[in-house]
Amino acid sequence: MRKISIFGATGSIGQSTIDLIKRAPQLYQVVALTGGGNIAQLAADAIALRAQLAVTAYEDQLPALQAALDGSGVEAAAGQAALIEAATRPADWIMSAIVGVAGLAPGLKALEQGTTLALANKESLVCAGELLLKTAKQYGARLLPVDSEHSAVFQGLVGEEISAVERIVITASGGAFRDWPLEDLKKATLAQASSHPNWDMGQRITIDSASMFNKALEVIETREYFGVEPDQIEVLVHPESLVHALVGFHDGALMAHLGAPDMRHAIGYALHWPERRDLPVARLDLASVGQLNFRQPDLARYPALAQARDVMRRRGLMGAVFNAAKERALDHFIAGSIRFTDMAEITARVLEQIETQSSLIDSAMTLDSVTQIDHIARKAADVAAAQSIG
Ligand code: NDP
Ligand code: MG
Repeated sequence: MRKISIFGATGSIGQSTIDLIKRAPQLYQVVALTGGGNIAQLAADAIALRAQLAVTAYEDQLPALQAALDGSGVEAAAGQAALIEAATRPADWIMSAIVGVAGLAPGLKALEQGTTLALANKESLVCAGELLLKTAKQYGARLLPVDSEHSAVFQGLVGEEISAVERIVITASGGAFRDWPLEDLKKATLAQASSHPNWDMGQRITIDSASMFNKALEVIETREYFGVEPDQIEVLVHPESLVHALVGFHDGALMAHLGAPDMRHAIGYALHWPERRDLPVARLDLASVGQLNFRQPDLARYPALAQARDVMRRRGLMGAVFNAAKERALDHFIAGSIRFTDMAEITARVLEQIETQSSLIDSAMTLDSVTQIDHIARKAADVAAAQSIG
């Protein structure tokens, strides 16, 4: 039996992972499941999967978790230290699906036990790609991509040398506002930004798809994970979301990965890698699809894409600054205190300010320096958000 843990088990990726596990529970021994505020879901899955341990990230939720697990034999724990401890429990495969930079510390800890880490938490690669890859190498751990585009590229590279790659193209649906008149974007509401044309995902990544902050993070993720140069990475708007990525080789061949927009494909590929096993995803019928459309992204509509280029040019801790500013800007948009278009203005201001004014930006990348610059960028984003009100 394979020992597995799922970080962010109560979220969209976590629940899709659990769906796959529940289809063949005899193959897995579940070590730890972690969540945040959704105690009922966390406890129900921990009991159903006979997990050893369930952890909520929030200390004040411990009594509720203990009550929900009472008599089940599942251990309950809470807080950051408990999350880290859960990541040290031996497992053969660990899903990293916490949302945001909060996934970084447990992910690093998991790598230190030399395990296979299935990485949905793209923010940790954006903030600390160099550190994650170095840690994986040092401890003989393996990082497998779960983001659909990166899984697609990874699959396109099987049997190929990265040196044979000329370019990597990741696709973007264009999000909720792909066809809106530009001048209407500043009036976009939270409800409108929270609905995705093709994918069913967590709220934060859905809004990040509308603004293309998600794609901006993914461009950086591509650079960090595959080690290609920034100008080898392209973004193509593809409204159908059926082609997830393309790998272009030096001989002119362009290999595309197609599939239904269902994260259980990428999760299942990482779960069964290096094998392929049957997965419960819809099979594409291209004759009934009929047409696939592609177009260049409009950089005026999606300023985050150009910002990602600046971040890659600067590298080091700039990714952590970008992500932190983006996370805070998104918090403010969700809270209703800023407009949709203010988010990219805030990240631009914070990037500029920290690059020119903070000496910390040149520090070596450690969990400490990433955490410090993350705090500084969050504060700067809060100030910028307060200035954009009114
Ligand atoms: P969700 O918001 O649906 O779930 C996030 C998970 O993280 C939940 O389990 C949540 O707990 C938990 N969580 C939230 N805040 C914290 C915190 N501070 N500390 C610890 N745990 C926390 O997100 P998604 O599943 O959509 O996304 C997860 C990750 O996967 C993200 O990095 C995202 O970018 C990436 N991803 C997601 C895709 C998707 O299709 N959804 C596609 C590709 C990548 P609770 O809900 O109990 O509060
Ligand atoms: Mg993606």
